[in-house]
Amino acid sequence: MFTEEDELRIRNNLNNVRERIRKAAERCGRNPDDIMLLAVSKTVGIEAIETAIKEKVLNFGENRVQELVQKYDILKGRCNWHLIGRLQTNKVKYIIDKVVLIHSLDRLELADEIQKRAQACNRVVNTLIQVNVSGEETKAGISPDEVLNFVKKVSAYPNIKVKGLMTIAPYTDNPENVRWVFRRLKDIFVDIRRENINNIDMQYLSMGMSHDFEVAIEEGANIVRIGTSIFGERQYP
Ligand SMILES: *Cc1c(COP(=O)(O)O)cnc(C)c1O
Repeated sequence: MFTEEDELRIRNNLNNVRERIRKAAERCGRNPDDIMLLAVSKTVGIEAIETAIKEKVLNFGENRVQELVQKYDILKGRCNWHLIGRLQTNKVKYIIDKVVLIHSLDRLELADEIQKRAQACNRVVNTLIQVNVSGEETKAGISPDEVLNFVKKVSAYPNIKVKGLMTIAPYTDNPENVRWVFRRLKDIFVDIRRENINNIDMQYLSMGMSHDFEVAIEEGANIVRIGTSIFGERQYP
């Protein structure tokens, strides 16, 4: 059951997170308004999401297609949805007209399917390229050496717009340990932007989660994906 205490807790958490975003931005001379707070609502119930919407959170991230579609149907046009997890090609059709941004484009086979489905509904779909900066075997993403080539290939897809890069840093107790990951992604981002590739718009750097978002902001993140620090510990992974 969702109680008044739950609502209060989420509102407090949100105030805290926003304050921390503001302070991190100011530490490095950035405007906090340039940083999008993406509330990661996977496993979280509708009332909790509605609490965040009341607090003017506009953007929510889900990593499972089925869950995203269910919540989308319930909440209609009240917020924007982002797909942040690994996307199977056979599920693209369910979300193609529901998401404002896919953060996890990591292979050409997936680009092919997004292109096909986007064209079928006459849309241009915004995507970020997921980069496996740390090289961890368990993580999805294009390797840093191959990103530029991959971006060039995707630039030829008329119904896909590449809007930037995304990465997931390894989990660590001390976020300073992964500062290099964020710095590296920013470097790659700047390098690609310098290439001025047709149909590529390097606008978003999606990096930083509950335990490392302040360091990510210091290194240039303009989308932070935050779940636990807003909604609390998840019940299932
Ligand atoms: C779950 C998830 C997050 C949020 O993680 P928290 O540690 O709960 O903030 C961010 N990005 C991705 C890709 C995720 O799967």
